[in-house]
Order: sequence, then structure tokens, then C-alpha cells
Amino acid sequence: MQQFEKIPATVITGFLGAGKTTLIQHIIKNAEGRRIALIVNEFGDIGIDGDMLKACGNEDCGEEDIIELANGCICCTVAEDFIPTMEKLLKRDPAPDHIVIETSGLALPQPLVQAFNWPEIKTRVTVDGVVTVVDSDALAQGHFASDEQAVNDQRSADDMLDHHTPLGELFEDQLSCADLVLLNKSDLVSEEELARIEQRLEKEVQTGTRFTRSSEKSPVPVKVLIGLDSAAEDKGHKSHHDKAHDNDADHHHDHDAFVSLEISLGEIADVKQFVAGLSGVIEKNKVLRLKGFAAVQGKPMRLVIQAVGPRIDSYYDRLWKEGEQPATNLVVIGKAGMDLDQIKTSIMDAI
Ligand SMILES: [Zn+2]
Repeated sequence: MQQFEKIPATVITGFLGAGKTTLIQHIIKNAEGRRIALIVNEFGDIGIDGDMLKACGNEDCGEEDIIELANGCICCTVAEDFIPTMEKLLKRDPAPDHIVIETSGLALPQPLVQAFNWPEIKTRVTVDGVVTVVDSDALAQGHFASDEQAVNDQRSADDMLDHHTPLGELFEDQLSCADLVLLNKSDLVSEEELARIEQRLEKEVQTGTRFTRSSEKSPVPVKVLIGLDSAAEDKGHKSHHDKAHDNDADHHHDHDAFVSLEISLGEIADVKQFVAGLSGVIEKNKVLRLKGFAAVQGKPMRLVIQAVGPRIDSYYDRLWKEGEQPATNLVVIGKAGMDLDQIKTSIMDAI
């Protein structure tokens, strides 16, 4: 049978100290048996991320699944280092279910995202999203990172870094590439300050980029971060933790409360029109994530649809199996308070 299933890849960016490693540990701990391959761009003497991740002690987190790119900045060495690593990873059998790429905050995210257009990668991998982690506490105090000196030390430790972009510009680049911005360490900052930060950062992001709050004590559910579980009907398992978070607006957290909605529909007639309709729904309702499969009239193959913030992707991945009823099943995730009825109606109208 023809298989074109693509592996979703998430790019995580943010300065040293913003909380990327903790976030990745959280993702791995909640992977629920799905194989996550991790590419870490550790370089210089102060890079400790790789070791910290290996020491996480989680049995799902095999050492062979963590690949360190230690030969300089990920964006400066894309062709020599990142692309061959991805190609090797794609040859593995079984292939990973999801790829997470942690970039150093000094890397420019754009060249990395463009590397996903490399022919051998493009056919096998889809960019699930770019998640930018920002340090709310540092921003509240007028800094980009809690320890700007450490970030600058990281820069001088890397003799392969081809660009000397100022921190302010790197920060703007991290934001302009983001599909989702995590206002991390939100527990250290007042509500008013968080609102001010969000307002300020909104000017730096593309239209449709979503913001959400998180802290070490209460991280954002993995299905929001990297979409795991949002196509639950296909993979078959659902986390208890995530379930407890569904429709859970009163339970107090330092992160936002999330709701999700599952929609089942029949065949869609016009893919372009349907995707445009979904795009409108996402924009209007500030949907964080939308993911699922669609049956298209006259097509023997299943259409994968996935969206995070402004990024929406659709492609055919495989033939409908014998005995499988072609249907359209979507999961929509957003913040509590999102108008679920309105979303459901608009999606049904888009068909
Ligand atoms: Zn670079």
C-alpha cells in the first residue's frame, strides 16, 4: 500500500534560560509510548542541555533518540549538519513518530525552517510548528534573557557562528517565525505585566500567532505544544493528564485552561475551499490547534489536515484501508471560553 505519512517536526527556539530543556523533558515524559526523536543544538562549553535531557531518567527517553548537533550553530551549519542528520533519522526503522528540534537562541530560525524544503526531507516531514519560549520574568525586567551574560558567553564559545546578530534582532526573529509563543515563567510575573508583555510581543509576530502562558509547575498540555493526541482517533490513546485538562476552567493553573472539540463530518467536496474555511475559523476564534483527517469526494486517499496558529498544512497520506469508512474527523483545541458551538457550525458550513 502506498504510504506518504509525514513525520511532524516541531522547532523549539528561545534564549538560554528561557525554559526550553524543561519544556522538552515535559514533552518526552508525556509522549505515552510515541517515539520522539530529539535534535539538540548544543555547542560551546556551556552547553549542558544534552546531558540534562539524558539524565531525565524516563524509560521512554532512549539515548539513541537524542541527537546532538555539536558542530556549531544550527542555522550556520544547516547543509553540513542538520540535513544529513535528518536524512539519517528518516532512514531509521521504525521511524520516529515526532521530531523535536531544540535550537539555541542564537540560531536564526528562518534558515532552519527553510531546510524542511530540502527534497528528501520535504516528502517525509512536515513542520508541525515553531514554538518560541520567552522568559516572562526577564522581559518584565527589561531583558531578553534572565542571564544575558550567559547568552553572550554562549555566543563567544561558538567559533562556527557566522552571524553576529544582536540579541534584540535574534529575539525579533524568534518571534516572527513563531506559530506559538510560550510566555514561560508566568508564575513569576503579575497578570498585568503578562498582559503588557503579550501586547508588546504581538507587534513582533505574524498575524495568527498564538500566545499561551506556562510555568515549570504547570506546563502547557503536550497536545497544545506539539499536537500529540489531537488526532486521537488515529493513534488510539489519550492521556489522563490531558483529559483532566479538557474543559477544566476552574482548576487553577499558571497556564491557560484549554478546551477541545471533536467534529465528525462526511466527505468534503472542495479541498481548497474547505481549508480556506478552516483558516477563517482558526483566525476568527483564535484556535490554537486543529488537526485531523478528511475524506474527499472522488479521492481514494485520506487527507491530513493540521494547523497551529497561522500555519495550516494539508496533504494526502495514505489510501483508506479496506473496511475503513472514509470520514472527516477533526479535533480543535483552544483556550477556555472559545465559542465551541460557533466553531462547529462554521466548520460544518465550510464543507
Ligand atoms: Zn547560525
